[in-house]
Amino acid sequence: MMSQPRPRVVVIGGGYAGAAAAGRMSRKAAVTVINPRPHFVERTRLHQFAVGNHHASGDYRTLLGKGTELLVDTVTRIESRMRTVHLATGDSVGYDYLIYAVGSTATRRATVPGVEEFAYPVAEFEHAERLRHALNTLDAEAVITVVGAGLTGLETAGELAEQGRRVRLVCSGVIGPVLTGRARRATHERLSNLHVEVHENARVVRVGPDELALGDGTVLPSAVTVWTAGFGVPQLARASGFRTDTLGRILTDETLTSIDDDRVIAAGDCAAPSGDPVRMACQSALPMGLTAADTVLSRIAGEEPATLDLGFNGIGISLGRRSGVVQFHERDDTPKDRAFAGRIALSIKDLGLKAAMAGLRVEALRPGTVALPGGGRHPSDTQARTADPAHAATEDSAPFSDTR
Ligand SMILES: Cc1cc2nc3c(=O)[nH]c(=O)nc-3n(C[C@H](O)[C@H](O)[C@H](O)COP(=O)(O)OP(=O)(O)OC[C@H]3O[C@@H](n4cnc5c(N)ncnc54)[C@H](O)[C@@H]3O)c2cc1C
Repeated sequence: MMSQPRPRVVVIGGGYAGAAAAGRMSRKAAVTVINPRPHFVERTRLHQFAVGNHHASGDYRTLLGKGTELLVDTVTRIESRMRTVHLATGDSVGYDYLIYAVGSTATRRATVPGVEEFAYPVAEFEHAERLRHALNTLDAEAVITVVGAGLTGLETAGELAEQGRRVRLVCSGVIGPVLTGRARRATHERLSNLHVEVHENARVVRVGPDELALGDGTVLPSAVTVWTAGFGVPQLARASGFRTDTLGRILTDETLTSIDDDRVIAAGDCAAPSGDPVRMACQSALPMGLTAADTVLSRIAGEEPATLDLGFNGIGISLGRRSGVVQFHERDDTPKDRAFAGRIALSIKDLGLKAAMAGLRVEALRPGTVALPGGGRHPSDTQARTADPAHAATEDSAPFSDTR
């Protein structure tokens, strides 16, 4: 008797969520991952890549499950009626199920004059590569300004300053808005030891090729301006006719299934389950990728998919290669007033990043092995949640540079 062909699953985006999902499904479906680059990008290390102390890349041969096809291309449109995705090269690919895992990126920064032309984001590999080139040709004494003091801004400033660069950190509020008093004090102390000049409550209103202007009229010299203030998501889902939240994250139910199409399942930074998204982080993207894969596998098996149960443990910040800050959280991601700083904090943070990569490798090798860190988002809470887009977080309230 002829065996049935395996269901075809297309995964858009080979980041933490997409790679985890591909690994999980690899033995039970014909999986194709579509990603613009032939290598995995460890986005959590892009600030390190920019300053030249990490490659921030991974080898898909060890990160995607056996038999998974990698298509190096960009999806330009999802035609859900035809179960087809269209690619930048002009090709198209059909699917039985689609996993939407396109991640996040820098927001459009056109609201502040000069940012698009002169500032350097670090949200994507190519951004960090551009910044790295700029730093390589920069005078050692030149002032570098990091705009935005969410976690990405803090980490970037710490990395640059530890290399002996002259660094200024400018933010419109306080540094690390998600940090509790203890963690913020430790961060201030470390930045001060690294001689980072911190400007809080300062809004940048214009960026030029070698300066920037603040709202109070001050003009500061800046040979390189790094822009980490605000992140957004690719607009592919919205442009393809799916309902999204205000940021453009695709709206799903708690099984991560699109509220518009039960063949489309989303995971990671680009998903808004019940319009109430979890924080954008590799810490959430990886388990969401596994949950998305479980949803697809349940549907293939004709079973009811389980709902997302995702638990957090805290936030880790590296402030250079010699020190960091760790802040503990409840499983539901509420910060506790417990934090510690120094070399051990950095090691814990680094261990977390290594564990994420190890998790992807293990799942690729032995699908179904990696357990979900649960206990944070319970099925019983889901009734309280709503798929009403008006309920969803706004762009201002959810920039992941401030929340991961
Ligand atoms: C500098 C920096 C440091 C960070 N540090 C941490 C940290 O310490 N801890 C933490 O938890 N989080 C951290 N984050 C956040 C974390 O990296 C993201 O939350 C995480 O990468 C999200 O995973 P993802 O799989 O959803 O998306 P991504 O990892 O962004 O992967 C999405 C993939 O989809 C691809 N893609 C996009 N559009 C398309 C398309 N149309 N067609 C095909 N492919 C597409 C992208 O190119 C990318 O490869 C950091 C982020 C940055 C920028």
